[in-house]
Amino acid sequence: MIRAKINEIFCSVQGEGLYLGQKQIFVRFAGCNLACDYCDETKAMGSGNFSLQSPEQVIKKIKLLQKKENPEAVSLTGGEPLLQAVFIEKLMPMIKKTGLKIHLETNAVLFREFKKIAKMADVIAADIKLPSAIGNSLWSEHEEFLKIAPKKTFVKIIIASNSKLNEIQKAFDLVNKVFREMPVFIQPVTERISENGNKQVKRPNDRIICEIRSLALKQLYRFKILSQQHPIWGVK
Ligand code: SF4
Repeated sequence: MIRAKINEIFCSVQGEGLYLGQKQIFVRFAGCNLACDYCDETKAMGSGNFSLQSPEQVIKKIKLLQKKENPEAVSLTGGEPLLQAVFIEKLMPMIKKTGLKIHLETNAVLFREFKKIAKMADVIAADIKLPSAIGNSLWSEHEEFLKIAPKKTFVKIIIASNSKLNEIQKAFDLVNKVFREMPVFIQPVTERISENGNKQVKRPNDRIICEIRSLALKQLYRFKILSQQHPIWGVK
Protein backbone atom coordinates (compact mmCIF):
# COMPACT_ATOMS: atom_id res chain seq x y z
CA MET A 1 0.00 0.00 0.00
CA ILE A 2 1.29 3.44 -0.90
CA ARG A 3 1.92 5.78 2.02
CA ALA A 4 3.57 9.17 2.43
CA LYS A 5 5.54 10.86 5.18
CA ILE A 6 3.10 13.46 6.50
CA ASN A 7 4.28 16.04 9.00
CA GLU A 8 0.89 17.65 9.70
CA ILE A 9 -2.55 18.42 8.27
CA PHE A 10 -4.32 21.58 9.45
CA CYS A 11 -6.55 24.42 8.32
CA SER A 12 -5.30 28.02 8.31
CA VAL A 13 -5.09 31.17 6.22
CA GLN A 14 -2.58 31.41 3.40
CA GLY A 15 0.08 33.90 4.48
CA GLU A 16 2.10 34.27 1.27
CA GLY A 17 1.81 34.93 -2.43
CA LEU A 18 -1.06 35.30 -4.87
CA TYR A 19 -3.70 33.64 -2.67
CA LEU A 20 -2.83 35.60 0.47
CA GLY A 21 -5.72 35.48 2.94
CA GLN A 22 -7.42 32.44 1.39
CA LYS A 23 -8.57 29.77 3.84
CA GLN A 24 -6.79 26.54 2.96
CA ILE A 25 -6.15 23.06 4.29
CA PHE A 26 -2.40 22.51 4.46
CA VAL A 27 -1.01 19.01 3.95
CA ARG A 28 2.62 19.28 4.99
CA PHE A 29 4.88 16.54 3.61
CA ALA A 30 8.03 15.67 5.52
CA GLY A 31 11.52 15.78 4.02
CA CYS A 32 13.20 18.09 1.54
CA ASN A 33 15.79 17.78 -1.21
CA LEU A 34 17.32 21.18 -0.33
CA ALA A 35 18.66 22.79 2.83
CA CYS A 36 18.04 26.54 2.53
CA ASP A 37 19.85 28.50 5.20
CA TYR A 38 16.67 30.43 6.15
CA CYS A 39 14.36 27.37 6.26
CA ASP A 40 11.43 27.88 8.65
CA GLU A 41 10.18 24.32 8.32
CA THR A 42 12.85 22.52 10.29
CA LYS A 43 10.22 20.26 11.86
CA ALA A 44 9.08 19.09 8.42
CA MET A 45 12.73 18.66 7.42
CA GLY A 46 13.58 16.48 10.42
CA SER A 47 13.70 12.75 9.84
CA GLY A 48 11.47 11.70 12.76
CA ASN A 49 8.71 14.30 12.52
CA PHE A 50 6.15 12.46 10.44
CA SER A 51 3.66 9.65 10.37
CA LEU A 52 3.18 7.33 7.42
CA GLN A 53 -0.30 7.85 6.01
CA SER A 54 -2.24 6.40 3.09
CA PRO A 55 -4.14 8.58 0.56
CA GLU A 56 -7.38 7.31 2.16
CA GLN A 57 -6.27 8.50 5.62
CA VAL A 58 -5.24 11.90 4.27
CA ILE A 59 -8.46 12.46 2.30
CA LYS A 60 -10.49 11.50 5.36
CA LYS A 61 -8.79 14.29 7.35
CA ILE A 62 -9.23 16.74 4.48
CA LYS A 63 -12.97 15.98 4.33
CA LEU A 64 -13.36 16.44 8.08
CA LEU A 65 -11.61 19.82 7.94
CA GLN A 66 -13.61 20.81 4.86
CA LYS A 67 -16.85 20.19 6.73
CA LYS A 68 -15.70 22.03 9.85
CA GLU A 69 -13.79 24.97 8.37
CA ASN A 70 -15.22 25.53 4.87
CA PRO A 71 -11.87 26.25 3.14
CA GLU A 72 -11.41 27.02 -0.57
CA ALA A 73 -8.33 24.97 -1.40
CA VAL A 74 -5.90 22.29 -0.30
CA SER A 75 -2.27 23.34 -0.26
CA LEU A 76 0.26 20.54 -0.71
CA THR A 77 3.35 21.88 1.00
CA GLY A 78 6.47 20.79 2.84
CA GLY A 79 9.33 20.16 3.06
CA GLU A 80 9.17 19.32 -0.62
CA PRO A 81 5.93 17.55 -1.60
CA LEU A 82 7.25 16.37 -4.97
CA LEU A 83 9.62 13.98 -3.20
CA GLN A 84 6.40 11.97 -2.72
CA ALA A 85 4.97 12.51 -6.21
CA VAL A 86 3.66 8.95 -6.63
CA PHE A 87 1.52 9.45 -3.53
CA ILE A 88 0.38 12.87 -4.73
CA GLU A 89 -0.67 11.36 -8.07
CA LYS A 90 -3.04 9.10 -6.11
CA LEU A 91 -4.25 11.82 -3.74
CA MET A 92 -5.01 14.56 -6.27
CA PRO A 93 -8.03 12.90 -7.97
CA MET A 94 -9.50 12.27 -4.51
CA ILE A 95 -9.11 15.96 -3.63
CA LYS A 96 -10.67 16.97 -6.97
CA LYS A 97 -13.82 15.05 -6.01
CA THR A 98 -14.26 17.22 -2.89
CA GLY A 99 -14.53 20.33 -5.10
CA LEU A 100 -11.52 21.98 -3.42
CA LYS A 101 -8.84 23.60 -5.57
CA ILE A 102 -5.36 22.07 -5.40
CA HIS A 103 -2.35 24.30 -4.76
CA LEU A 104 1.18 22.92 -4.89
CA GLU A 105 3.91 24.76 -2.96
CA THR A 106 7.29 23.62 -4.19
CA ASN A 107 10.94 24.53 -4.50
CA ALA A 108 10.48 24.02 -8.27
CA VAL A 109 13.45 21.76 -8.85
CA LEU A 110 11.99 18.25 -9.33
CA PHE A 111 10.62 18.81 -12.83
CA ARG A 112 10.40 15.12 -13.79
CA GLU A 113 8.11 14.42 -10.82
CA PHE A 114 6.15 17.61 -11.51
CA LYS A 115 5.36 16.46 -15.07
CA LYS A 116 3.31 13.58 -13.65
CA ILE A 117 0.94 15.77 -11.66
CA ALA A 118 1.04 19.23 -13.31
CA LYS A 119 -2.28 18.78 -15.12
CA MET A 120 -4.19 18.06 -11.90
CA ALA A 121 -2.87 21.03 -9.91
CA ASP A 122 -4.82 24.28 -10.13
CA VAL A 123 -2.11 26.60 -8.82
CA ILE A 124 1.65 26.21 -8.48
CA ALA A 125 3.57 28.36 -6.00
CA ALA A 126 7.12 27.89 -7.29
CA ASP A 127 10.17 29.15 -5.44
CA ILE A 128 13.24 30.25 -7.35
CA LYS A 129 16.11 29.44 -4.99
CA LEU A 130 19.07 31.81 -5.08
CA PRO A 131 22.53 30.18 -5.01
CA SER A 132 23.44 32.23 -1.92
CA ALA A 133 20.68 30.41 0.02
CA ILE A 134 21.38 26.85 -1.06
CA GLY A 135 25.10 26.81 -1.80
CA ASN A 136 24.79 25.85 -5.50
CA SER A 137 22.98 26.90 -8.68
CA LEU A 138 19.78 25.25 -9.87
CA TRP A 139 18.91 27.57 -12.76
CA SER A 140 18.46 24.86 -15.39
CA GLU A 141 16.26 22.73 -13.08
CA HIS A 142 14.13 25.80 -12.31
CA GLU A 143 13.83 26.57 -16.02
CA GLU A 144 12.72 23.03 -16.89
CA PHE A 145 10.19 23.17 -14.07
CA LEU A 146 8.69 26.58 -14.93
CA LYS A 147 8.30 25.61 -18.58
CA ILE A 148 5.86 22.79 -17.74
CA ALA A 149 2.84 24.77 -16.47
CA PRO A 150 3.71 28.48 -16.69
CA LYS A 151 0.12 29.79 -16.76
CA LYS A 152 -0.78 28.07 -13.50
CA THR A 153 2.38 29.25 -11.78
CA PHE A 154 3.40 32.20 -9.68
CA VAL A 155 6.97 32.60 -8.52
CA LYS A 156 8.35 33.39 -5.09
CA ILE A 157 11.90 34.64 -4.58
CA ILE A 158 13.02 34.78 -0.95
CA ILE A 159 15.51 37.55 -0.25
CA ALA A 160 17.86 37.14 2.72
CA SER A 161 20.58 39.39 4.15
CA ASN A 162 23.23 37.66 1.98
CA SER A 163 21.25 37.69 -1.31
CA LYS A 164 23.12 39.25 -4.24
CA LEU A 165 21.72 41.58 -6.87
CA ASN A 166 23.26 39.59 -9.73
CA GLU A 167 21.46 36.37 -8.74
CA ILE A 168 18.16 38.24 -8.34
CA GLN A 169 18.74 39.60 -11.84
CA LYS A 170 19.21 36.01 -13.07
CA ALA A 171 15.91 35.01 -11.45
CA PHE A 172 14.12 37.90 -13.21
CA ASP A 173 15.75 36.89 -16.52
CA LEU A 174 14.48 33.36 -16.04
CA VAL A 175 10.88 34.51 -15.48
CA ASN A 176 11.03 36.75 -18.56
CA LYS A 177 12.48 33.93 -20.63
CA VAL A 178 9.86 31.33 -19.66
CA PHE A 179 6.63 33.37 -19.42
CA ARG A 180 6.80 37.12 -18.92
CA GLU A 181 3.27 37.39 -17.46
CA MET A 182 4.04 35.04 -14.54
CA PRO A 183 3.38 36.94 -11.24
CA VAL A 184 6.49 37.30 -9.09
CA PHE A 185 6.50 37.67 -5.30
CA ILE A 186 9.69 39.04 -3.83
CA GLN A 187 9.65 37.95 -0.21
CA PRO A 188 12.09 39.43 2.31
CA VAL A 189 12.89 36.63 4.73
CA THR A 190 11.16 36.71 8.13
CA GLU A 191 13.70 37.69 10.79
CA ARG A 192 13.86 35.20 13.63
CA ILE A 193 16.03 32.93 15.73
CA SER A 194 16.06 29.37 14.37
CA GLU A 195 13.96 26.80 16.25
CA ASN A 196 17.04 25.22 17.87
CA GLY A 197 18.20 28.69 18.95
CA ASN A 198 21.57 28.34 17.17
CA LYS A 199 21.12 30.65 14.24
CA GLN A 200 19.73 34.09 13.59
CA VAL A 201 17.96 34.56 10.27
CA LYS A 202 18.38 38.22 9.30
CA ARG A 203 16.24 40.40 7.06
CA PRO A 204 17.83 42.02 4.00
CA ASN A 205 18.58 45.71 4.48
CA ASP A 206 16.38 48.49 3.05
CA ARG A 207 19.00 49.48 0.45
CA ILE A 208 18.94 46.13 -1.33
CA ILE A 209 15.14 46.02 -1.21
CA CYS A 210 15.06 49.44 -2.92
CA GLU A 211 17.55 48.26 -5.54
CA ILE A 212 15.51 45.12 -6.21
CA ARG A 213 12.35 47.19 -6.52
CA SER A 214 13.99 49.48 -9.11
CA LEU A 215 15.14 46.44 -11.10
CA ALA A 216 11.71 44.81 -10.88
CA LEU A 217 9.91 48.00 -11.98
CA LYS A 218 12.03 48.10 -15.12
CA GLN A 219 11.99 44.40 -15.92
CA LEU A 220 9.01 42.50 -14.53
CA TYR A 221 5.50 42.45 -15.91
CA ARG A 222 3.80 41.83 -12.55
CA PHE A 223 5.42 41.77 -9.11
CA LYS A 224 4.89 42.50 -5.43
CA ILE A 225 7.31 42.81 -2.55
CA LEU A 226 5.54 41.02 0.27
CA SER A 227 6.75 39.53 3.56
CA GLN A 228 5.18 36.45 5.13
CA GLN A 229 1.94 37.63 6.75
CA HIS A 230 1.05 34.69 9.00
CA PRO A 231 3.67 35.53 11.69
CA ILE A 232 2.16 39.07 11.78
CA TRP A 233 -1.37 37.71 12.03
CA GLY A 234 -0.26 35.21 14.68
CA VAL A 235 -1.52 32.17 12.77
CA LYS A 236 0.26 29.01 11.69
S1 SF4 B 1 12.99 24.22 0.01
FE1 SF4 B 1 11.63 24.96 1.63
S2 SF4 B 1 11.43 23.24 3.09
FE2 SF4 B 1 13.20 22.82 1.75
S3 SF4 B 1 14.94 23.61 2.90
FE3 SF4 B 1 14.28 25.23 1.52
S4 SF4 B 1 12.86 26.47 2.72
FE4 SF4 B 1 13.11 24.52 3.81
